[in-house]
Formats: sequence, structure tokens, C-alpha cells
Amino acid sequence: MERENVVWHMHKVSKADRSQQKKQRSAILWFTGLSASGKSTIAGAVEQALFELGHHTYLLDGDNVRHGLNKDLGFSDDDRIENIRRIGEMAKLFADAGLIVLTAFISPFRSDRRLVRDLVEADEFVEVYMDTPLSVCEQRDPKGLYQKARRGEIKNFTGIDSEYEAPEAAEVTLNTAECDIAECVAQVIEYLRTNNIIHSKA
Ligand code: ADP
Repeated sequence: MERENVVWHMHKVSKADRSQQKKQRSAILWFTGLSASGKSTIAGAVEQALFELGHHTYLLDGDNVRHGLNKDLGFSDDDRIENIRRIGEMAKLFADAGLIVLTAFISPFRSDRRLVRDLVEADEFVEVYMDTPLSVCEQRDPKGLYQKARRGEIKNFTGIDSEYEAPEAAEVTLNTAECDIAECVAQVIEYLRTNNIIHSKA
């Protein structure tokens, strides 16, 4: 079928219906930052906190997506852009289901993050910038990746020989070198309450 014959079908149950039923507002919490800056750790801990508060969530994790939906993609510039585009579309579907979606991808380029922000409603995209200094990330190096990159065994490693473009106006900025996990989680939850994504009573 030709593309112009594919028409968006409006169904009776809307995104608003689905999120109201869950007593929350749909949102995408987009964690971005260097490798080992704490994206997975904080995204996981925020999901757990939301779950315990009775909220409905889904966490999209970088490696898992590359094993499934995006297993045909490599690490060329074009494939990296396509990787983020598909993740954005997937996050949008989960948000349409009324969920609070959490994503943990380095997503180093402003243009890619902008692409996802532009896919969804203005107040739905919450950019969470892990403002952890490179020196701290490199010292943590939980998977030994920085060491490999320094030895030249990994090319185009973000922070070493590939640029990380820090957000200019992230909704939430976390410095995990100064705040422990509980403090970072509290900062995100506070943002969600203040912006009526979750209700304000504990
Ligand atoms: P990323 O997903 O950004 O690659 P990870 O969450 O996998 O990062 O790794 C971050 C590492 O830093 C973990 O080993 C975690 O235990 C440690 N860490 C220490 N302090 C913090 C903190 N305040 N917030 C998040 N992670 C921290």
C-alpha cells in the first residue's frame, strides 16, 4: 500500500484516559550523560521509587534494545541516529499507553535528543542530565570501558575520542559526584511532583 493511503486511526480510548486511569501524567524521563555517569543506576532507582508509590512505569535500557528491536543497527553515524529515532518512537508509544517511561542512553548529541523531544508533547519530555565529571566516570569505570578506550581498543568512545554535547536547558541536572543515589532520586521525584506528572501527596 502506498504511504499516503495509510491514515492515522483515532481510537475511542485516548492517552488522557489511559494516564488518568493510572493517576499520573504520561512522561518520558530521558537520562543522558557519559558512560558510568549513573544513568542506569538512577533511572532504575527512580523507577523503583515510582513503583512503590503505585505508579505505572517502563524502563528502556540501551543494551537490551540493541539485542532486540535494534539488533540490525551498528555504530555508524546513520545507525546511531536511527537507534535513537526508534527508541524515541517506542518511548512515545509507551507514553501513549499512559506510562512514565525512563530511558538510559548516553545520547551524546543535542540534535538526537532534540529529535525525540520534538516527537512528543512539549511538557512530556523530561531531560535528566547526569552532570558527572569525566574524571569521576573514568575512576568508576565499572565495565573497564574507559581503560579500553584509553588504550585505543574502543574507537569513538564518548568523552575520550567522541564528543558529549551537554544539554543547554535540561529539566533536571544531577551531579552524582556530589549527591548520593537517594538524593538524586529525591530530586527527580520532586520535579515530577512540582510539574504534576505525579500527585504531590507522598
Ligand atoms: P551509566 O548507566 O551512566 O553507564 P551506571 O549506572 O551503569 O552508569 O554506573 C554508575 C556507577 O556509579 C555505578 O557503579 C554506581 O553504583 C556508581 N555510583 C556511585 N555514586 C553514584 C550516584 N550518586 N549516582 C549514581 N551512580 C553512582
